[in-house]
Amino acid sequence: MADSVPESSLLGRQDLHVHTTMSDGYVPLEELVSIAAERGVQIGVADHISRRNLKRFVSDEARVRRYLDAVEAQDVFVSGEFCWCDNYYRELPDEVMARFDYLVGSNHGFELPGGGMGSPWWEQLPPEWKERPRELMDVMVDELCRMVRTMPIQIAAHSTLTPPALFDLEGDVDAWWTAEREDRYVEALAESGVALEISNRYRLPHDRLLGKALQAGVRFSLGSDGHGRDQVARLEWAADTARRVGVTDADLFVPERRRR
Ligand SMILES: [Zn+2]
Ligand SMILES: [Zn+2]
Repeated sequence: MADSVPESSLLGRQDLHVHTTMSDGYVPLEELVSIAAERGVQIGVADHISRRNLKRFVSDEARVRRYLDAVEAQDVFVSGEFCWCDNYYRELPDEVMARFDYLVGSNHGFELPGGGMGSPWWEQLPPEWKERPRELMDVMVDELCRMVRTMPIQIAAHSTLTPPALFDLEGDVDAWWTAEREDRYVEALAESGVALEISNRYRLPHDRLLGKALQAGVRFSLGSDGHGRDQVARLEWAADTARRVGVTDADLFVPERRRR
């Protein structure tokens, strides 16, 4: 089989976006480590570090330090998922931020012109946006570009997540991710050097955008975004997608462990 994937391929063997019970995941860290070992997958623990949910997320400095102590004690990459919609990443001391091997940034909400926040999970558009869905999409893409250019992150997670309310209007991904919007986002990724996550959980991004990103020299990372035992260290869809569009090991963002 000339085209078979070599044993050494990292594709599908490195899951850089996994959650634990330290934020909103359901799997304790030690158990996560043993599940990943069974599945033959290296992991990067990237719990939510944000004040968006004070109770469930790692939301104050003492908790961040305890989180880092716990993750550093395991044979995993040390990461955190930071929200574009809060500034917490700017407020933690440099010495704390320096303990992460890499940072994940996510559009869990984005500022709207005229006030308020938009959500990539919106199932209904608010009244003031009902008549202007394309303008809303442009705002979201602009915000994604700003996110990768502004945040000190290495990976943009589930970034092409698009409000279901828009797909109710037109079901085709190309209707929202037009060539022009794709080009704009791919250029921002290429210029910022931020890797584009292929999300096993959300089954994103779509092939055409991935192909353009590959052409533009953007790096990729695979993430399960797993919260439960059946999801963590599972990358089948993401690895199949990466291979289908021609992503190889050489195109992956591969973190380095900091000396501890
Ligand atoms: Zn997320
Ligand atoms: Zn996540």
